[in-house]
Amino acid sequence: MVTYIAGSGAIGCRFGYSLAKNGKDVVLLDNWDVHIKAIQENGLKIVGDVEDTIQIPIMYPTEATREADLIILFTKSMQLENMLQEITHLIGEGTKVMCLLNGLGHEDIIRKYVPEKNIIIGVTIWTAGLAGPGTAILKGKGSVNIQSLDESGVEKAKEIVQLLNESGLNATYDENVFPSIWRKACVNGASNATCALLDCTVGEFFGSENGFNIARAITHEFVQVGLASGIALDEAEIMAYVEEASIKAAHHYPSMHQDLVKNHRPTEVDYINGVIARKGPQLGIKTPYCQMITDLVHAKEAVLAIR
Ligand code: NAD
Repeated sequence: MVTYIAGSGAIGCRFGYSLAKNGKDVVLLDNWDVHIKAIQENGLKIVGDVEDTIQIPIMYPTEATREADLIILFTKSMQLENMLQEITHLIGEGTKVMCLLNGLGHEDIIRKYVPEKNIIIGVTIWTAGLAGPGTAILKGKGSVNIQSLDESGVEKAKEIVQLLNESGLNATYDENVFPSIWRKACVNGASNATCALLDCTVGEFFGSENGFNIARAITHEFVQVGLASGIALDEAEIMAYVEEASIKAAHHYPSMHQDLVKNHRPTEVDYINGVIARKGPQLGIKTPYCQMITDLVHAKEAVLAIR
């Protein structure tokens, strides 16, 4: 059974490493030339909780030839459609395509390239970083929750849960994964763009009264739009979850801070706060905080001339 990781940055390397380390047939696909070259020449280096180096195949998506049994999508949201176009030749009748990206609405893009019966959607709270090309920083523990979009795909999705568990990735089949996807989007929506804009850690943002109130207002907008979209969310429970996550991540600069401030790369804001800013007005819900946050991030991208 061949598994491709389509988008092998930080978290893609974590999943690729775990699968390869447990003897699974896994191939990394990526488009970052120096990263590909580093892994091809020196292997994938792991630092953090363990220090390791593993030989693992990595190539450009267009170079891969074997039809996939499973493709795990791990691009940034704005790279997803391009990646799907580059891997259509790997997608056969029975190929399962699993999306664990942060953000909302990725299934709408995937449906253009993959039949509904083969799409698996989910969320992971594993984390990872990159120390540089070819080196992943893996710390802490996490989990994966997945669901087949179509009832006919449930058995196969449960086999994928088993594959992930054999690789130490702590996966569960979830009969209704969307509330968990939205819960994580609330955490990202409250802290990611805001910390990037204010150039601060999660703890610094939540530690100020104004920051805390902004996080609360953003979370309220996410929950209202989620509820109106048919997602079962409990605002008090979600707010408590967002606060708890802010305490656990108090010393961290979220990934959008790293993308925007540190690396001057485009952000995923259109797939997090931007979704709420777009959907809210369509549903008759006011979403001024998410609109402003999205506009400010794009303004900062423009100031930094990020494309
Ligand atoms: P990433 O930025 O590390 O990698 C995404 C893609 O960008 C990869 O193809 C990678 O090779 C490329 N890339 C990375 N740095 C680059 C650079 N400097 N120049 C050129 N290309 C570069 O993203 P990620 O953290 O692996 O996240 C992928 C998806 O998974 C996102 O939707 C993210 O929100 C989500 N996610 C991430 C984590 C995490 O802890 N990293 C956890 C859960 C979900």
